[in-house]
Parts: sequence; C-alpha cells; structure tokens
Amino acid sequence: MIEYENLLKLNESFVSEFQKSFTSTLQSGWFILGKNVEAFEKEFSKYVGTSYCVGLASGLDALLLSLKVFEFPVNSEVIVPSNTYIATILAIIQAGLKPVLVEPDIKTYNIDPDKIEEKITSHTVAIMPVHLYGKCAEMDKIIGISKKYNLKIIEDCAQAHGAMFKNKKAGAFGDFGAFSFYPTKNLGALGDAGGITTNAKEFASKMKMLRNYGSNIKYYNELPGYNSRLDEVQAGFLSVKLKKLDDINKHKRKLADIYIKNLKNDFIKPVVNTDYYDVFHIFAIRHPKRNQLKEYLLKNDIKTEIHYPLPPNKQKAMKGICDHFNCPISDEIHNTILSLPISYFHTLDDVSEIVEVLNKF
Ligand SMILES: *Cc1c(COP(=O)(O)O)cnc(C)c1O
Repeated sequence: MIEYENLLKLNESFVSEFQKSFTSTLQSGWFILGKNVEAFEKEFSKYVGTSYCVGLASGLDALLLSLKVFEFPVNSEVIVPSNTYIATILAIIQAGLKPVLVEPDIKTYNIDPDKIEEKITSHTVAIMPVHLYGKCAEMDKIIGISKKYNLKIIEDCAQAHGAMFKNKKAGAFGDFGAFSFYPTKNLGALGDAGGITTNAKEFASKMKMLRNYGSNIKYYNELPGYNSRLDEVQAGFLSVKLKKLDDINKHKRKLADIYIKNLKNDFIKPVVNTDYYDVFHIFAIRHPKRNQLKEYLLKNDIKTEIHYPLPPNKQKAMKGICDHFNCPISDEIHNTILSLPISYFHTLDDVSEIVEVLNKF
C-alpha cells in the first residue's frame, strides 16, 4: 500500500531533535511567548525575506487577524479565489467582511488576475490571493491592481512555504503573508500553529497585541484582542524543521518532476514555468473520469485525496454568504482534480510505481 500521507513517517528523521527541543522547553519552565517563539519568528522572517514574523495559533487566525489589523468598515468587500480551502473565506466572514469570489485560471488553479478588476467596487478593501498547492499566484499583476485601487494584500501562504515567484518568496509580496504550520503542511508542527510575515513594523506590533488579548503590557489592554499565541513547544519543533524545509521542498520537487516527465498526457498535469519555484504541497492532476481513476488507484493499493471535493460557495456553511456566485471554472476543477502521493517520506521508486499504474488506466 502506498499511503497518501503518514505523519509518523514524515517526522521520523526529526524525532531525536524534537526530543531534545522538547526536553529543553520543559526544563525551561516557560511555555507561552518565550525564547522559542522569538527565535522561530526571527528565523522564519529571515527565510521568507521579510522584516518581521509573528507566531500565531493557526493559519485561520493568521488570515483573520491580518484582516483585523486594518479595522476595515463592516461589510467591506474582499476579493478571494473561488477555489480555495474554506479557511480563507471563513477569515473574511469572521472579520465581519464580505467575500467576493473571483474565478481561477484553469491552468495554474490560482486566482485569474484578469478577472479581478471587474469585481472591484467602491467597497473593496483587500485582495487575498491563495498560493494553492504550492504555486505562487501571479503576484506582479495582483500587486499592480492593488496599487491602482489602493487595496491591501493578504497572501494565503498555507500551502506555499518556500514557494517563489520571480525569485521572491510567498509571504514577501503583500502587506501580510499568512501561514499555517498544520502538521501536513510543507513546514508542519506537531499540532496547530500559524504565523504571519510582514515588512511593516506597525503591523507586526499590532499583530503581537492582537494575539495576546490586545495587550503589550500585562493587564493593560489597548485593543479588543484574541488568544492566538504560537506556543513554545511547537515553536521549538518548527525551528528544528525549518532547517530542513528546503530539503523537504527539493524532495517534493524531485517527485513532482518524475510525475510530470513520465505521466501520459491523458492526465492534465501541473504547468511548469521558469518564473515559478513550486513547492508541491499538493501534486494535483485532472482527469474527466476522476472518481473512477481514484477507485482504480485504490484497487492497486495507491491512496489519493481530493483537494477539494466541494467548492466553498456550495458548502452548507456558506448559504446566504457566497452561494450566489456562479463559478464554472472552479466547479470544473473540483470535479476533475485528484491529489497524488507526494510526501517527504515517499521515495522516487514509490512515484515511479504510481506512474506505471496510472499510465495503464
Ligand atoms: C491549511 C490551510 C488554511 C488553514 O490553516 P489552519 O492552520 O488549519 O487554520 C488556510 N488556507 C489554506 C489554503 C490552507 O491550505
């Protein structure tokens, strides 16, 4: 059986360093907002190429608190791709704002910059591009639009740790880069964790208050804040893993390369372009008989996933919120997409075997 993901195997090579880190955190007797969080924030901002990083409790919080920093008027509109994980849209709603869905490019699966301007109104305040599956959105065009209309940019980088567009890393383009360190992500903790990157000192210090009850000085609250702190134990683990993030990404790119070079053209494969450094959080192919293909692979002992089976605008939770958007391109992607195994623990032989089975379909 070739598994889709296995978190024990994924973390196997880090176990002894994790144990060292855990013991040292335990012995420090300091578990919230201490040396580990500070160290990880420094290391991760350096990695992304921004001046600041602020550690938070999750990716959803990173998106939500980024929006909260700007104190936009209630019901302001935020542009977001129609084919994202629901968290991006939930953040907009939970911030008291309105999601405006824009269709993706059918080739890159990322928001189609040419379809953004027609959705901008006098109420639009921000664009939230999502670097889906580990490929950056077309950030030069998106930044051009944001400047023209004076909009904020919050990048959803949850699937794109280390991904680049024109040699700049995801998280270094917008006002905020919002990251998730959920265990399965390219940089994953051993529990929930998240964070933001930014170049603005003012935004970073406001974010530090928001994550800690709106407080800078103990028991004095400047803002109605949240409890969204990255904890010391997870920060320690993340520092261990960050040192190997480039190796993780390189390995995933090697596996992707085997798929791309050897899979028959019956399968629609991810596009490659020298402007992009893709980190393949997910390796997605498309096929008109997706469900049959998934079953066929399972019969051949190969597990796959679908990211995602149901688009946000068709989820029950989005009734009356964004179910009025008609998104045929997003629908087409959701109906045909299939994610193949591409974890750090998969070998080149695993992938060659999967290719062989797939090419007989
Ligand atoms: C995982 C993910 C999130 C949410 O991150 P959590 O840490 O689970 O809150 C947001 N957006 C995208 C695109 C994701 O893949």
